[in-house]
Amino acid sequence: MNLVADASVLQNPAAVAGLIARAQDPQRERWLDQVRHTGACRHPIRLRGVITQGEQLVYSTATEPDRALMVRCGNRRAECCPSCAREYQGDMWQLVCAGVAGGRKGVPESVAEHPQVFATLTAPSFGPVHNQPDGGRRCRCGRQHPDDDPSLGAAIDPATYDYEGAVIWNWHAPALWNRFVVELVRALAAGCGLGERQLRELVRVAYVKVAEFQLRGLVHLHAIIRLDGAQDRADAPGLSITAEQLCNAIRRAGRRASFNGDAGNAKTVELRFGKQLDTRVLHDADDGRELTPEQVASYVAKYACKGSHHAITRRGADPDQLRENGVPEQLVQMAIAAIRVSARAGLEGVGKWVHMLGFRGHFVTKSRGYSTTLGALRDDRARWRSDRDEQLVDEDEDEGETVPVLAAWEYIGCGYLNPGDVLLAAGVEAAIRVAREAVLELHRGPPDEAWLTG
Ligand SMILES: [Zn+2]
Ligand SMILES: [Zn+2]
Repeated sequence: MNLVADASVLQNPAAVAGLIARAQDPQRERWLDQVRHTGACRHPIRLRGVITQGEQLVYSTATEPDRALMVRCGNRRAECCPSCAREYQGDMWQLVCAGVAGGRKGVPESVAEHPQVFATLTAPSFGPVHNQPDGGRRCRCGRQHPDDDPSLGAAIDPATYDYEGAVIWNWHAPALWNRFVVELVRALAAGCGLGERQLRELVRVAYVKVAEFQLRGLVHLHAIIRLDGAQDRADAPGLSITAEQLCNAIRRAGRRASFNGDAGNAKTVELRFGKQLDTRVLHDADDGRELTPEQVASYVAKYACKGSHHAITRRGADPDQLRENGVPEQLVQMAIAAIRVSARAGLEGVGKWVHMLGFRGHFVTKSRGYSTTLGALRDDRARWRSDRDEQLVDEDEDEGETVPVLAAWEYIGCGYLNPGDVLLAAGVEAAIRVAREAVLELHRGPPDEAWLTG
């Protein structure tokens, strides 16, 4: 952002006062350092506190600008904080890549040889919606919709579309996934002529899955499913199963998985996945459709940072407010249906997930042992950062003797102190972005964007 060119800034007295105050602040450079440290987080958490080593005070926020230390907000939604979302996305990429390719972040190299499949399980239909059928055919409404048509995903006949059924499907999607995993073990066992228990003694199903909101407001589940040895993920499965056989088992399990979910007011409804089910083999150079670990990792990481819609950022979404913010009517209707459904006995909980159109699962979930953990990645990064800064605790002096380091923190607030600081932070954000793009240009290699949007 060019601060000078943005004349509206000068109309805002609070922004001007803030800019002047920071310009006169003798600790201005240190404040900018802090902003850089958070990666120009949009809503940094401000902390007050001290670090002591034994008896000695080694750090105190008392000497910091505004007597506070700023740390990242950690929000994973790109609409809320691009910087923190990017960091989360990077972690997710590492996590998935380690799980697929092995040989990094403590995941054994051998997993790359295990059968692995990238599968997409879809939601069923709750009424026809405007879409772009394959092969250039027309939509059911008779028109051919361009890519940017805002009516894409909207019900063709809103009067008959089952919005409440759709919300209830989202609500139970995590449970339906669990049924799918059970069915997958069953299908694998049947395919090998074994009992389920025998199969479990030889093979463990490991996965990472991510939920993606479609334009119609229902979630799709994308999953990387890998077969490991039952005892140790480094071992190959205890019997020979090809990736193709795994694909077949996934398709069979996807068709069979069903779950009797609470529909409220003492009724139940049978939930199933949609008919569309896609499976792609990973690491199979022969079938010409190979996905590289980097590509799948980018795909999963991308969806890990998306919510129901970029304009829906808060809990308790109010339908009028959503319309005002430009949220498509299909999703507004889903939100209204979620509010209606939450009035039913047994489904009161849906009321807390209106902003997610009823979906309450985590965006990313993984089975134990699939890959490294987000916690481990965060620790790695923290260690790298403190090595780099060495400003907080100087460990040179103690020779083998460990002195306990204690930190006591207190939350003061969230966000910047005034609109002037917000502007300065936006300038830092822009500078970081330019630098990153320059580095990317130099390295060109990671995510293949064309594949991602395709
Ligand atoms: Zn942030
Ligand atoms: Zn149409």
